[in-house]
Amino acid sequence: MPENIDARTVAARPRQLLTQNRELKAIGVWNWTLPAWAGRLDDGRTFNTCPSAGICAQVCYARQGTYLWPVVRAKHHANLTFVLDDLPGWEAAMLTELAAKKLTGGWIRIHDSGDFFSDHYLRAWLRICRSRPDLHFYAYTKEVDRFRRLVEPDPPPNFLWVYSYGGTQDSQLDPTVDRVADVFPDDQAIVDAGFSSQDASDLLAVLGPRLVGIPANRIRAFVKAMAGRRFSTWQAYEDKQRAARRRRRPRPGGPTHPSAA
Ligand code: SF4
Repeated sequence: MPENIDARTVAARPRQLLTQNRELKAIGVWNWTLPAWAGRLDDGRTFNTCPSAGICAQVCYARQGTYLWPVVRAKHHANLTFVLDDLPGWEAAMLTELAAKKLTGGWIRIHDSGDFFSDHYLRAWLRICRSRPDLHFYAYTKEVDRFRRLVEPDPPPNFLWVYSYGGTQDSQLDPTVDRVADVFPDDQAIVDAGFSSQDASDLLAVLGPRLVGIPANRIRAFVKAMAGRRFSTWQAYEDKQRAARRRRRPRPGGPTHPSAA
């Protein structure tokens, strides 16, 4: 154990790393999760587990409802604290847990919320996948650049992933080649766009057709924010707006008024 870990941190370590909610249990999937997006741990450290989140953060399913219950939030924070403070220890603990008989031949979803927030953390997962060829792992991710560099050249055969729209790296995705997931206002919009819904089973995101449609969460504020758009078009609009603002911003040493140009 690294010397900089104090007793308080050790006490916060989760007893069980993998969990199952009702939906995942029905399809035999176990889940590892982190807190969603940005926040502050109890010890004062700030974090961002979704560094490439874009518009998705405005309508993040994992920042409302049961995810805000103190016991759930504490569990997610404990998971992240373990990873941040002792990555090798967490990796060893994960491998120990994955050896349980009940998981034989099973599927592990990496992240119900959160993402592969660093190269070190992603590499740890790649080592875990390779160490357990008898298990199947899958993930949604917005870390396009990280995956292009670290995963795509030599992916573990038992690791499947889908790139999800709504992030700051959307423009690097090619839906004619990449497996992609998009969030749509409703089921009809999924069909109209030629995508296939994964509503029947989350595993369809990686085992079904390559263009994956996800029906939007029907929370009123989310529906309003989406304004009938899908994540990919909403993100593309925001990217365009940001680029326009950047072009309009006066450059140091440049003209201060249009008439001075
Ligand atoms: S990447 Fe997922 S968990 Fe993270 S902010 Fe976006 S929707 Fe939430």
